[in-house]
Amino acid sequence: MAEDIEKVKCLIIGSGPAGYTAAIYAARANMGPVLYQGSQPGGQLTTTNEVENFPGYPEGVTGPEMMLQLQAQAERFETDVRNGWVTKVDFSGDIHKVWVNDTKEIHADTVIISTGASAKYLGLESEQKYLKLGGGVSACAVCDGFFYRNQEVVIVGAGDSACEEAHYLSKLCKKVTMLVRRDEFRASKIMEARVRNTENIEILFNTETDEVLGDGQVVNGVRVFNNKTNEKHDIPATGFFVAIGHKPNTDIFKDYLDLDETGYIINVPGTSKTNVEGVFVSGDAADHVYRQAVTAAGTGCMAALDAERYLAAKDSTFEVSTSTYN
Ligand code: NDP
Repeated sequence: MAEDIEKVKCLIIGSGPAGYTAAIYAARANMGPVLYQGSQPGGQLTTTNEVENFPGYPEGVTGPEMMLQLQAQAERFETDVRNGWVTKVDFSGDIHKVWVNDTKEIHADTVIISTGASAKYLGLESEQKYLKLGGGVSACAVCDGFFYRNQEVVIVGAGDSACEEAHYLSKLCKKVTMLVRRDEFRASKIMEARVRNTENIEILFNTETDEVLGDGQVVNGVRVFNNKTNEKHDIPATGFFVAIGHKPNTDIFKDYLDLDETGYIINVPGTSKTNVEGVFVSGDAADHVYRQAVTAAGTGCMAALDAERYLAAKDSTFEVSTSTYN
């Protein structure tokens, strides 16, 4: 019903560094932003332990703490931060329609997409079975590592995330076995050195997962194979961690926005603009290259400025705020 439809100037979807930074800028520019947090309030950083590379924190900061501070900063300027999951959009007209939790309908002059990316899994039946059972499969060492104190675990992946998570687990667990599918890491040298120099991390190169083993309820091992020799063997483990990258959370936009072959939103180079006027993108939903908190925050700022200028050009009664540029 028409009276149930909420009208907003600026709707921000997602609550990582990109979303909150967009909110800080949009709020200070009198755009009255409404921000929906999605299923993981605070985004991927809430699953990261120590953030040491975000400028302004000489001693580092934990991911969850940084996200609480970003939220507080957005709320200080009266961003309307809400729980809710955007399930559908219609970007076919001038007014951008967005549905929250399949029911609430919002009409937004501008939309800033900051939906980030989600963890990928291997897709093995046994992996999915124990994941759904909550029986020992996880894509977040920081969230779940605690449950495996003094136990033996296996982690898959060879990027910075896998190294960071393996190192984190090594401090809690008796032993961490790391499965690397090639004969080299993808991670930066410093992260690779960190895992190589940790006594209780064993690295198995050219090794892939054949099966996650268990008793039907919980994981008790992992069957692996060497992809050079095809030899298989079982590794006893109570936890199986997957750290093989992420998929952009962009499925609901695919009918309206241009996406690349892996699902990242294509922006007009050097801007946050998408192929739909009034719809902007920031953070990992469009960035498969840098994927850092600080770059996400930077593009969040760009999206708010682009949205503000779009509104100003469209509606002469909307004044571009000078505070944005202070
Ligand atoms: P990446 O895409 O960098 O790495 C994914 C890893 O998973 C690769 O080693 C890949 O292997 C492996 N992999 C993918 N699919 C499979 C599979 N089916 N079976 C086995 N292994 C598989 O993702 P990350 O999440 O590690 O990093 C994403 C970005 O975030 C990077 O830019 C990274 O630098 C950054 N980052 C930075 C951090 C920091 O600075 N503190 C911390 C975490 C991430 P292969 O190499 O063979 O392709």
